[in-house]
Amino acid sequence: MNLIKNMSLANTLGLASSAQFGCILRYSEDVVAARAFAEAEGLPFRVIGAGSNIVPMPQVRGVVGVMAIKALHIVDEGDMGLQLEVGAGHNWHELVLYCAEQGWFGIENLALIPGSVGAAPVQNIGAYGVELAEVVASVQVLDGRGGLRWLSAEECDFGYRSSRFQQCPEDIITAIRLNLTKAGHIKIDYPDLARYFQGHADVTPKQIAAAVIDIRSAKLPDPSVNPNVGSFFKNPIIDNAQIAHFEGLDLSVFRTGVGAKLSAAQLIDRCGWKEKQTGQVRCWVKQPLVLVNHGATQAAHILEFASDVRASVADAFAIELEIEPSVLA
Ligand SMILES: Cc1cc2nc3c(=O)[nH]c(=O)nc-3n(C[C@H](O)[C@H](O)[C@H](O)COP(=O)(O)OP(=O)(O)OC[C@H]3O[C@@H](n4cnc5c(N)ncnc54)[C@H](O)[C@@H]3O)c2cc1C
Repeated sequence: MNLIKNMSLANTLGLASSAQFGCILRYSEDVVAARAFAEAEGLPFRVIGAGSNIVPMPQVRGVVGVMAIKALHIVDEGDMGLQLEVGAGHNWHELVLYCAEQGWFGIENLALIPGSVGAAPVQNIGAYGVELAEVVASVQVLDGRGGLRWLSAEECDFGYRSSRFQQCPEDIITAIRLNLTKAGHIKIDYPDLARYFQGHADVTPKQIAAAVIDIRSAKLPDPSVNPNVGSFFKNPIIDNAQIAHFEGLDLSVFRTGVGAKLSAAQLIDRCGWKEKQTGQVRCWVKQPLVLVNHGATQAAHILEFASDVRASVADAFAIELEIEPSVLA
């Protein structure tokens, strides 16, 4: 493990940022060594993947490790399904394509989500009617004392864009195990996918992944052209008692069983942000939940814009939007 002073941090927002010390983590021993160095120097230690869900400050204090642990093997296989173990440093989208190519069902709806395998459990990535939590068997972590252990899906405490890892940043994810099936676990009832397949229920994981790629490409900005971190805000959760109030405002309310979700994009749109640009930041016109950086070089510019959006939604609807990406300071 090689520590690099002022290592520049790649991020899909296109911000200029460097870590006081950075390193590439190829083995779990690298994580142990990098953390030991940080502790000895009294510095914070963080691990990132591809930087597609972070807002990094120009100078990030401490040691930042970039996860690169690679491994991929079948742990257990039967006629109906298998359990696959994947190192945290793999690229998520490439994993989706690989599984779809094998004909394995489970993660095809999560195609084209940028980032690493290790970051996927952190916010329980989700899209097109599927969340990672539905297929995770267990997650391997190096805990704060240097112990390597597997956490069951239950211990990961997955929720909507949340998990225990957001509360326990000392747990560094080194691998995950996924339960995949060889037949029949098709989830195409999400409106965009249902429209795409128009009643054809007998589809392969490869066809579903291709459909998701098509739909996403038409709707979402490519970060290499229009820098962004995907959804900047989480959809707000309301309780049952508030449902009638928001339905009365003619807003979409998605019942979840324990309360309901509002569409943050709709709230932002209603506040008039869809067509507005402040400085070099704006909402993506086809999906105002996505903030696009048109030349801002510093995290502060993005955060100022986000804070203005939050303030206007709070004024109009008394809803506090929660920011999805991690701010790295
Ligand atoms: C265009 C675009 C579309 C997107 N669409 C979606 C979507 O549909 N659904 C969705 O859920 N997300 C989406 N995202 C967000 C993003 O892709 C995911 O959050 C992804 O999992 C981030 O992976 P990463 O490796 O880039 O993580 P990073 O941005 O590098 O890190 C994100 C967070 O995870 C922590 N972390 C990373 N790796 C580890 C590890 N090994 N151990 C412990 N902590 C770790 C970091 O410290 C940080 O807090 C989108 C982003 C973009 C740019």
